Amino acid sequence: MSEAIQGSSLSEPIGFVGIGNMGAPMAGRLLDAGYALVVFDVSSKAAAPLIARGARQAGSAAEVASLAETVLTSLPTPDIVETVALGEQGVGSGSRIRRLIELSTSGPRVAARVAQGLAAKGITYVDSPVSGGVAGARAGTLAVMVACERTEFDRLQPLLNVIGKPFHVGERPGLGQMMKLVNNLLSGAALAITSEAMLLGAKAGLEPDTMIDVINAGSGRNSASQDKFPKSILPRRFDAGFATRLMFKDLKLCLEEAESLGLTLWVASAVRQLWLKTFNEIGPNEDFTTIMRCVEGSTGIEVRGRAAGSAPTQGRARG
Ligand code: NAD
Repeated sequence: MSEAIQGSSLSEPIGFVGIGNMGAPMAGRLLDAGYALVVFDVSSKAAAPLIARGARQAGSAAEVASLAETVLTSLPTPDIVETVALGEQGVGSGSRIRRLIELSTSGPRVAARVAQGLAAKGITYVDSPVSGGVAGARAGTLAVMVACERTEFDRLQPLLNVIGKPFHVGERPGLGQMMKLVNNLLSGAALAITSEAMLLGAKAGLEPDTMIDVINAGSGRNSASQDKFPKSILPRRFDAGFATRLMFKDLKLCLEEAESLGLTLWVASAVRQLWLKTFNEIGPNEDFTTIMRCVEGSTGIEVRGRAAGSAPTQGRARG
């Protein structure tokens, strides 16, 4: 088995469950690298492009786990993660599976419960959430935050190298999840505060493209100013590939962990409120870059870049 994972044999099928915004490009990279894939998603449409490229379609997560020793999952919510791991038709009831590599963000508690449930069946749980967005998933440049035994990490490195850069953050299941929540607190806060800063500058008469150029040459630069604003927000495309419901889920998990550790995170609490407002007012399934539209609200200002052309109903955000 370990030989197959180390890449000396690519004929051993790898399982993949959850072919969404992140799962599709990650699974696509495994196919590109020559791995045989068996896939499942509740939406049959989701897997179609992979099937057309030679992946085998399974009828359930359990079937995936009866065909592959190593199964990766990329699923939206903690509840779904737990059900897909431990439920009746879950990977835990597969006959062949030896390890589950969990790429989803589900929080440390679900990770601990799933690890325990799978261990009872002799299956190793590899806590392995990722960061870097859809673009990073396509390019194979994700940060992969792995918590499992060191020997298991070493064995899995060649496989994980296909999707990004693996970091061993500890042995205890849940530490990978905690690392991811810390990262996404920063990512969510950066997008929230950059949206407010851009609104302020635009209202005062600064030109949005100029502001982003200056911020990115100065000390205010961050992942939102360098990536989301130029690519998705200034062109008003709102297409980064991460839903607001998922960003809100991550902040909620993060604050729950802080509370259970007896910590008060003042800024994080305010950031979560703004994401909740975006969730309620703009919509949970909208792309998370629409937080800019939430911040603009009824101000009459649109933070619109040159690439977006002129606004159909409102004036450009300039004096
Ligand atoms: P998504 O909603 O686009 O994809 C999730 C996929 O899981 C969908 O195709 C859905 O049909 C499928 N699914 C749902 N329930 C299922 C079930 N019971 N069995 C099988 N498949 C099922 O979400 P995403 O954006 O791809 O995110 C996946 C995970 O990765 C989340 O935990 C998210 O927080 C995390 N993440 C996302 C990004 C991003 O930029 N999108 C970045 C890093 C981490």
